[in-house]
Amino acid sequence: MRVYISVDMEGVAGVVHEHQTDPTDGRHAAEYARSCRLMTGEANAAIGAAFAAGAAAVLVNDSHWLMRNLIADELDERAELISGGPKPLSMVEGIDGGFDAAMFIGYHGRAGTAHAVIDHTYTDRIHEVRINGEPAGELALNAAMAGDAGVPVVLVSGDQTLAAEARALLGDGVETVIVKHGLGRFSARSLAPAEARRRIAEGVRRALGRRHEPWRVPTPVTIEAEFARTVHADMAELVPGAERTGGRTVRYTHADYRAAFRAFRAMSSLAAVE
Ligand SMILES: [Zn+2]
Repeated sequence: MRVYISVDMEGVAGVVHEHQTDPTDGRHAAEYARSCRLMTGEANAAIGAAFAAGAAAVLVNDSHWLMRNLIADELDERAELISGGPKPLSMVEGIDGGFDAAMFIGYHGRAGTAHAVIDHTYTDRIHEVRINGEPAGELALNAAMAGDAGVPVVLVSGDQTLAAEARALLGDGVETVIVKHGLGRFSARSLAPAEARRRIAEGVRRALGRRHEPWRVPTPVTIEAEFARTVHADMAELVPGAERTGGRTVRYTHADYRAAFRAFRAMSSLAAVE
């Protein structure tokens, strides 16, 4: 059994504010460094439980911001780590048909979710993403990429809104570990990190003990991005094949989810203008 783990930071126990997740602002370096340790601890909980459940190999992908957060020399030495960016598939770089299960640790609710800790979808320049008309967060965008590779997402961890999003999207078969209850965008009631890690480990054991099916989106697939400002859409519509559908909205349709996901990556990257 080979296991793939994508690790974000906003959904980690004890993390509630962007001052704790921003690697670029030196004023909050101490808080950010603490979040890196917390993130690494939850990743280790998942890695350890995966090996205990019989995994032969675990690949971990650092999926937050500049993607250089997980502390390499504190990570379980049995796992391999994908670190840094940009990388083509971003939060799901390295996923392929050779994996039996994917897990999303430290994930968060999609942009626009009430009471979700640091809700967003890939970038603050995006108000909403829709896959085939349905609102989609990072969870859906990345789970669909895993599904395209034939890999089921068997477990997610984060706040209660992420858990609800996962069950609505993937059904009751997905294991959801709630490590904190969001009270607002920048506040939460959290488990202690040690308890969060225990619950993640228990969840991994349960998740790997039953069968799961990959989640595949119907194709052809349309990904539509609603940006915060018209200038973002001005840039996103430069992607060949993209269609401007409104002042702030651009959509892209393709027979292949992987191509549509790559186009979404290109659109959101081009939109990185003020
Ligand atoms: Zn993140």
